[in-house]
Amino acid sequence: MKTLINPTPHIVPRNDHLISRKQVDENALKVLYRLSRQGHLAYLVGGSVRDLLLGRTPKDFDVGTDATPAQVKTLFRNCFLIGRRFRLAHIRFRGHQLVEVATFRRNPVRDELPENEDDHFHFVQNVFGTPREDAFRRDFTINALFYNIADFSIIDHVGGLKDLEERRLRMIGDPLVRFEEDPVRMLRALEFSARLDFTIEESIIAAIDQRRQLLATASSARLREEIMELFRHKVAGQVAILAQRYGLLDFLYPDIDFLPQTFELLSLIDERTASGEPIRESLALAALTLPAFFACCPIERSQHVNDALVAADKVLRPHCRTYSIAQGIRCEARDLLVGCFRLARGRGMKGELRFLNHPFTAKVLELFGIWCRVDPSHQEAYTGWKSVIDAADHPESGDRPSPRRRRRRPRRKAAMQHG
Ligand code: ATP
Ligand code: MG
Repeated sequence: MKTLINPTPHIVPRNDHLISRKQVDENALKVLYRLSRQGHLAYLVGGSVRDLLLGRTPKDFDVGTDATPAQVKTLFRNCFLIGRRFRLAHIRFRGHQLVEVATFRRNPVRDELPENEDDHFHFVQNVFGTPREDAFRRDFTINALFYNIADFSIIDHVGGLKDLEERRLRMIGDPLVRFEEDPVRMLRALEFSARLDFTIEESIIAAIDQRRQLLATASSARLREEIMELFRHKVAGQVAILAQRYGLLDFLYPDIDFLPQTFELLSLIDERTASGEPIRESLALAALTLPAFFACCPIERSQHVNDALVAADKVLRPHCRTYSIAQGIRCEARDLLVGCFRLARGRGMKGELRFLNHPFTAKVLELFGIWCRVDPSHQEAYTGWKSVIDAADHPESGDRPSPRRRRRRPRRKAAMQHG
């Protein structure tokens, strides 16, 4: 669908839309008002306007302005400029709250781009422009709406309001070009479609079909962050299904063997996050690799824990190398996988007591419980372990492991203690 872009924006006055200042974070309002009083344009931008119009609670309230970062800094004592290449102002408030203020930017014309620039994305983000240019450099029309604090109107340069109404994800500009500029947008298309339950416009799907291999050239740090966003937004399972449908799965998770159970397990992890449990990267990693791990590590009583460790390393290491994931996170994921192996193998093995008394075991049991919903053949083992672990938490109820014997520490001399 080709849409003619109006040279003037569509402006919806305050009485004709549903956004009220009561829904806007009070710190963001303070920032907007002060910028505006000092004669600058001050808009709420990006995801917050979209979410407020959809009746959802925004994750954060970002501000766009024509003030430069240096000007913003002079207006707020609690302002910190961050990023060497991508200058942003962070206004910090009590309770670790912060409001991000970005100066309007535009896409640079071709000969402004630096030579030998392997990641144009950051450069592209740093050329200041008009609000209209700022709207056009954004990814999807629904992400480019502005809420103007000067008159409480909504400003739509790109037809985003209509797309919101019709629940459609549409790229600003030609998707082929926009994916060449930044292939991560392909993943974002799937993410927003899943999060908002929007249809993806045909031209985006066609462009993904032609440009999917560009995802292999995208910055792994940004992809890793977007993958964690999928988990935080409870759409890791749905996006994996969409990524498989549109041929992106092998580029997103090039080192993970996706089995039918992987999709199911990810959806259950999303359900867990939806219930309010925070998601750690190690749990996300363990969920991504648990089915492949069980597929290559037979669960037999004769199988040694060392074999499980080797299998866990085999499924985790390549992914962690690709995405430069720290050893500490990988080891935590490995402990979850190996812990699930111990639970699946059943009770009465060597080292059981130490395992039961380990504080990490509760986390392993939780993951194993979720896995049992995918593979009910482990249900009996799960129930057995759960009763003994619950009993350890509530000792009065009987079946519990005997307390761990503590080695006595030699007594310190009083003189040393008081020093
Ligand atoms: P949420 O914060 O709820 O995940 P969001 O829309 O705010 O959603 P962010 O990733 O926080 O998404 O980005 C903020 C805004 O920056 C987006 O709404 C979009 O306008 C713009 N943006 C982000 N990533 C890109 C990109 N890769 N290309 C172009 N514009 C982008
Ligand atoms: Mg945001």
